[in-house]
Formats: sequence, C-alpha cells, structure tokens
Amino acid sequence: MKLLQLLLLIAPLTLSLRLDRRGKVVYDGYKILRVVPGGDVAAFEAQLESLEAIDLTHNHGHLDEEHFDVAIPPESLAAFEALNLTSEVLSEDLGADIALEGELAEYPEPELAAAAALPSLDWFQAYHAYSAHLTFLRDLQSALPSNSELITAGKSFEGRDIQGIHLWGSGGKGSKPAVYFHGNVHAREWISSKVVEYIAYQLVAGYGNDAAVKAFLDNYDFYILPVVNPDGLIYTQSTNRLWRKNRQTRSSTSAVGTDINRNWPYKWDGTGSSTSPGSGRYRGERAGDTPENTGIRQLGDQLAAGRGIKLYIDWHSYGQYILTPYGYSCSASAENQSRQNTLARSTANAITSLYGTAFTTGPICSTLYATAGGSTDYFTDVNKAEFGWAIELRDTGRNGFTLPATQILASGEEAWVGIKYLLTNF
Ligand SMILES: [Zn+2]
Repeated sequence: MKLLQLLLLIAPLTLSLRLDRRGKVVYDGYKILRVVPGGDVAAFEAQLESLEAIDLTHNHGHLDEEHFDVAIPPESLAAFEALNLTSEVLSEDLGADIALEGELAEYPEPELAAAAALPSLDWFQAYHAYSAHLTFLRDLQSALPSNSELITAGKSFEGRDIQGIHLWGSGGKGSKPAVYFHGNVHAREWISSKVVEYIAYQLVAGYGNDAAVKAFLDNYDFYILPVVNPDGLIYTQSTNRLWRKNRQTRSSTSAVGTDINRNWPYKWDGTGSSTSPGSGRYRGERAGDTPENTGIRQLGDQLAAGRGIKLYIDWHSYGQYILTPYGYSCSASAENQSRQNTLARSTANAITSLYGTAFTTGPICSTLYATAGGSTDYFTDVNKAEFGWAIELRDTGRNGFTLPATQILASGEEAWVGIKYLLTNF
C-alpha cells in the first residue's frame, strides 16, 4: 500500500487540515460557534467529529446552559447548520483572529545595558517564540541575582529542558513554603505563559523597593515555570495554532500527543479525560507517562517533601475562572474547601477591581466540567498543597485562545492584583 493511502486510512483528520506554503495549518473561514448540544452529548460529539470540527472548550452547564465552543471548517458549515442546533457565533473567521494576534515579535532588549536591568515591559506587548521566553527568564534572573536562580524540571518529549525561575527572600534559598506556578501546559493557551511571566516580573521588580512584594519573597519561595509544554508551544507557532497536547509519539498509535494535564497519577482513571489517542484530552497509556508530567511532578513532590506547598496554580485560558478542587468529583471537597472558595471569590473581586474583568469561581467539577488526572487534585491530595488551583484567563470566548496581543499587559496587570491580594490574605 502506498504511504499516502495508508496515512489516509489511519489519520484522516490530520490530513484534512489545509496547510499554507510554510506548512502551517490555515484556519481561514473557520467559524467559532458556541453550541448547545441538546439531548445526547455523545451523539453530538460524534457529529462534531464527522464534521471535523475542533473542540475548543466546553462547560457542562452548572451555571448556565451546557455548551461547547467549537471551530467549524468552512466546508462543514452547511452540514452543521442542517443539524439545527442552538448556537451563537463567537467568531466569524478564526483565520482573521489568528492574524490579529500579530506576528511573533523579536525579543525586546532591555533599555539599560546594565547587568541588573529588568527585561523591557515591551515583552508584554506581543507574543514571542519559545527561545525568546528563555531569554526573558535569563534576563529576569540577572536582574535579581542574589535572590533567584534558573531551574529546570526535567525534559520535554523532544528533549528540551523545562525551565523556570526560583525566587526567594531574606530567609535564604529554599527556606520557606513554596508557591508553585505552571503556565502553558496546554500549548495553544499563549496568554498563560505571558501572565505567569508578568507575575514573576513584578516579584523581581518589586523586591528591592516595595514592602509588600519583599514580604511575599521573605515568606515564600516561588517556583515559576511559564512554559511547561515547550514542544507543544513551538508546534502551535510552527504548524498548528490550535494544538493542545504535548508532542509525544507512541508505538501503539499514529496519533501524536498526550494531554499533560490529564496525565497526573491521581484519580487518573476516571471521567473527564479520553482513552482515545487522537483526542485533545488523551490521558496517556499509564498515569504519569509523559516526560513533562514527570518533570514538573518530581519538582512538586520535592517541594512538598521540603517546606511544603502553600499555593499551587496551574494557569490556563480561556473562560475567566478561578477553580478550586476537585476535578475528579463534584461531591468531594477539600478539608479547607469553604476557605478556598471564599478566597477564590475575593481574589476574583480583586482582579475585577482593576479593569472590570469578571472571573467565575468554584470547584472545577461543579463549576466547569469533570477532569481526571488533573494537576489541582494531585497537588491537593498527594502533595497536600494548602491551595491547589487552576485559573482560566481571558477571555470568555470572543477571541478564545487567540487573545490579541493588545490584551497581554492588561491580563498580566489584573492577575497580579489578584495574586497580590491572595498572597496578602491567605
Ligand atoms: Zn488549559
């Protein structure tokens, strides 16, 4: 059998994507719709698959009507309309939204050439290539050399170091409970790494001249990893803007990629992930069998065994949610659940106070959807983090994953207001 025929048999979804001359997936003409599935959700999902629609996110409808945000290819629009489902157009043209994100920018050199100069705030005016994210981290570390170091948490499937920065205060390195942040575990959620970097920037910038920030570092050791899925991020920039998973291949399947955030070895084998390797929420063959999960998990385990973890946040987009445990069950609650929910609400209020951006709060399963093998449950129950949260950043669907670069700075600023509130009041 010819290779092309073989590929058509095993990977029709991949081959149907249109590519431009640079080999990049073309999303021109894709409509983004918010769809109410009506009765049978499994049948609805099968219909989406037959239309080659891309599942962006969904909300199981605790707070409002159950809906899915999906990108429908132009050639399937007529067939979709024939289904007569209740739907709302979020975007007329995903290709135009991707163009609005702007081209990846060059790394903005710091304005001062001094060794301890902070990175330029222009960093938050555009999206950048992965290599520039590493330069940003390096420059950030150089700006506070006595209270920080670059760290790695293992390697990605393609062999890249998973990099981050560790910040500490007057007690010395590793002397305080940990605050541990992960960004961009889902490749297409570009705003998440930028916001995590903004928080790291403010901690570094404020340590020498802002008493509140100094107290944060004096009270906690911060471990901040803006991009924990580097292979995926690079793939969204080179090839497919809507890629979500890592880039892991497996001998048992031609499908590529495992959802690192359905791969945590706790409540892995439950509702809220997929056993199908082609799915965006594929959980892997075994719990914890992605290299990225192994790296960030081992660091988390070390922190838990050391001074303990005060706060873990897994930063995502989109939807504007502050999510507390649990994902695996809508009825289980953490020991300090009511305190977590109260703090999540007041953190959301702090965020809203800056630009009016509203965040919904509550436990993952009952607020958004069930997840299995998710990070917050692992950190809450295995690593005994006092607060194990996930935050879904801007927006609520108009631009979704392709948030315009003009919103990066404001997203960082409002998140920083929320985090300052949390670090001061928890
Ligand atoms: Zn995500």
